[in-house]
Amino acid sequence: MSDVLAASRTIVVKVGSALLVDSCGGNLRRDWLTSLSADIAALRREGKQVLLVSSGAIALGRRALNLKNGALRLEESQAAAAAGQVRLAEAYADILKGENIVAAQVLLTLGDTEERRRYLNARATLKTLMALGSVPVINENDTVATAEIRFGDNDRLAARVASMMEADCLVLLSDVDGLYSADPTRDPEARHIPEVEAITPAIEAMAGGSVSGLGHGGMASKLIAAKIATGAGCEVIIAKGKTFHPIAAVRSDARSTRFKASTTSAAARKRWIAGVLKPQGTLVIDAGAVQALALGKSLLPAGIRQVDGRFDRGDAVVVRDGEGREIARGLAAYGAADAERIAGKRSLEIEAILGYRGRDEMIHRDDLALTGLADR
Ligand code: GLU
Repeated sequence: MSDVLAASRTIVVKVGSALLVDSCGGNLRRDWLTSLSADIAALRREGKQVLLVSSGAIALGRRALNLKNGALRLEESQAAAAAGQVRLAEAYADILKGENIVAAQVLLTLGDTEERRRYLNARATLKTLMALGSVPVINENDTVATAEIRFGDNDRLAARVASMMEADCLVLLSDVDGLYSADPTRDPEARHIPEVEAITPAIEAMAGGSVSGLGHGGMASKLIAAKIATGAGCEVIIAKGKTFHPIAAVRSDARSTRFKASTTSAAARKRWIAGVLKPQGTLVIDAGAVQALALGKSLLPAGIRQVDGRFDRGDAVVVRDGEGREIARGLAAYGAADAERIAGKRSLEIEAILGYRGRDEMIHRDDLALTGLADR
């Protein structure tokens, strides 16, 4: 198991409410958080990028606001989230500071990971934070989220973050040590499953409801999260997080379930570019550029003959050859107006023409899916 984390560059760790907040008093488990923070610092010393997705706002806030036990009305949980989030962020900032790490709070709603422009923006901010050495601490923006725009549970939020950031591994820390063939609290015959190759209907049938009562995610929501993440090329580990140093425990083979990625993140991203996004324009390229793309290279402005359509930077465009045949689809690094000005020009000239230094490529090869070359 340890090799999954050792081989990962970008890791998302999801922390459930039941770990952060003790179930009787509703107090923050500071010592536990300090041990998690030491584990995160250790990962970072190995050169890995870490993002945290943390629950606990509602659990902390309900105590701060003296809300009664039991189910809360939607407005009450949103109020609790507001009061709790500030305490949660403060605790992370304070404890991560002990490891010389700057915590940065990021609150997301479903739309931020679905709508492309917001998605690109959130992704760029998270990447910048990590490049600056900070650890993003992400939660759902519960206070503004209505039923339609909610993730509803942080397992799913963590999976979306993992796929958005092309993470290699998502660790779901909760109060269960993985997937069982049946609900282990009810069935003494339930077997622990250490590794899942593919999330088949038989695997899905094994998941029961939530047992912790504090957060929202049960095994069913963890499986949904595992499906999203593995389909985006990210390995998933479900592990029990209650003990101190939960990540170190996973690495030294504490019981957990590993879900293998069903694709690579690069392939998943290309599928998304080729199949999900609606192209907003067309770039017509010359024969030399067609050859370069066939060799897996980026599309440079020099190879562009014609620019059609109205698209912004980051929009999907179709790439066609001089005879109108589709060659590829990709994300344009320049909007249509700028693309027109640099079409046919060498990358070195971009700055002089546009007055700013953008990317050397019109479409970087990571953002390019060859949709029409294979069948020639
Ligand atoms: N966003 C919620 C909170 O911070 C938790 C949702 C969940 O546990 O899945 O309290």
